[in-house]
Amino acid sequence: MTFIDSHVHLADPAFDADRADIVERARQAGAVALVCIGESLEAARRAGSLAERYPGFCYFTAGVHPHDAADFDADRDLVGIRAELARGAVAVGECGLDYHYDHSPRERQREAFIAQLSLAGEHQRPVVVHTRDAEDDTRALVEEAGRRGVRGVLHCYTGSHQLARAALDVGWYISFSGIITFKNWKDEEVLRLVPDDRILAESDSPYLAPVPNRGKRNEPAWVAHTVARLAAARGTSVELLGALVTTNARRFFALPGADAPALQ
Ligand SMILES: [Zn+2]
Ligand SMILES: [Zn+2]
Repeated sequence: MTFIDSHVHLADPAFDADRADIVERARQAGAVALVCIGESLEAARRAGSLAERYPGFCYFTAGVHPHDAADFDADRDLVGIRAELARGAVAVGECGLDYHYDHSPRERQREAFIAQLSLAGEHQRPVVVHTRDAEDDTRALVEEAGRRGVRGVLHCYTGSHQLARAALDVGWYISFSGIITFKNWKDEEVLRLVPDDRILAESDSPYLAPVPNRGKRNEPAWVAHTVARLAAARGTSVELLGALVTTNARRFFALPGADAPALQ
């Protein structure tokens, strides 16, 4: 089985002691690439260094997380994200809206998200979106961006069918994390609702370790459990589901070996 981890915080200090082992175990488990998320400019710089250390295997993104939107400074941060894109970042983000924790005022979250959606459109790069308990605003902004041709992924998806359909309707992707392996996950239908060509899988590590490792520090190798869960829900084989999330991640992030992007 092969897969691509579409969302890993590999630059997180949680991995400082054994990052090389983590990468090796990911390869052993079937990972053919890891997309290392830069959730801040500082994280993006560290993720970019990982992409240099593991060329052709680690890729990176650059953005400002909604938790930090209170400190978002468009002049400084958009310049910073542009610099990371010039350095090879494959996507803008993660950015988005988190009304569950409300670590930043909602108005500031919207401003930072809108600015990053625009930047993604301007640079024709995909955008990695975090959304929690912010369905109406997320749907409105995703639909508006999608109509302008901005492509994105709703990562670590736990939202409604309505939001998923709205995102899919404007050409977006949906990524599932280890949360779907938890005993209290009840929504089988959403795991089947995403078409074969729009589904991604992720660890979101070091957080959200899937069953049977729930509660431990998560790592990309364990995306295999999430892929298996998706395969079971969709009545297909682990090998086929793994091939889908690999092909889709290559296309979405325009990684080497991707098929030509579909014309909108
Ligand atoms: Zn997130
Ligand atoms: Zn994340």
